[in-house]
Amino acid sequence: MTFKQRQNRLKKTVLLLKKHYPMRRAKATSDTMSLIQLLVLATITEDPYVPSAMQAVRRMERDYVDWNEVRVSSSHELGEVLKAYRLDPERANDLKSMLQMIFGRENKLSTDLTSSDSFDIIKSYLLGYENCPRRVVDTVLMLLGEHRDIPAGDQVMRFAERTGLIEAGAGANSLQLLFKKTLPTQDLRPAHFAICRHCRELCREKTPLCTKCFLLPHCDYGTRHAPKKRAAPATG
Ligand code: SF4
Repeated sequence: MTFKQRQNRLKKTVLLLKKHYPMRRAKATSDTMSLIQLLVLATITEDPYVPSAMQAVRRMERDYVDWNEVRVSSSHELGEVLKAYRLDPERANDLKSMLQMIFGRENKLSTDLTSSDSFDIIKSYLLGYENCPRRVVDTVLMLLGEHRDIPAGDQVMRFAERTGLIEAGAGANSLQLLFKKTLPTQDLRPAHFAICRHCRELCREKTPLCTKCFLLPHCDYGTRHAPKKRAAPATG
């Protein structure tokens, strides 16, 4: 498929996704979060819009003295918190590493920045962390403003490969280039929101519900794997 054909497919896909999953409240929620909260949120889930992830962040803030206490808590204990919110307990290690990374640079677990600081200042601050996963940086920046790189986590990559937006194994750069060259900036965040929601509801990792999916006619995986409808038996 040519790049132009992929662009057309992306436009169609995003149009359908946005129609099914209009973005309403997500922005207001992230606007009220601190930078540390957003970093924690982006670390513990690929889907920062899922309400349970937001609740897990709030629970940690409620139950622990501060983020430093979270940093020194055991992975097992933090994993149990994540499990209670149906999040992957394995991400407890990522969370500890991320908090350690901030602590190592700042010598405290807060930053002098808030989510209301200028987007460019926050961007250069986050990019200053060499070990911070790019997906986490892109997620925080996308939640804060009109960021051009869609967060290319496993879930988004899987969706893009299944729907044929990119070749299997093409990599995050191909995906981000396609989105950047095709969609206006203001559409990137609603597209990310809608893809995350679709992956939660229908395009699940192990058992995608292709027969119920409105993208089926436009999806490579769906058209190959979904059971075909049988022709109605002839009568008379
Ligand atoms: S048809 Fe199946 S694989 Fe394609 S987007 Fe829908 S659920 Fe995912």
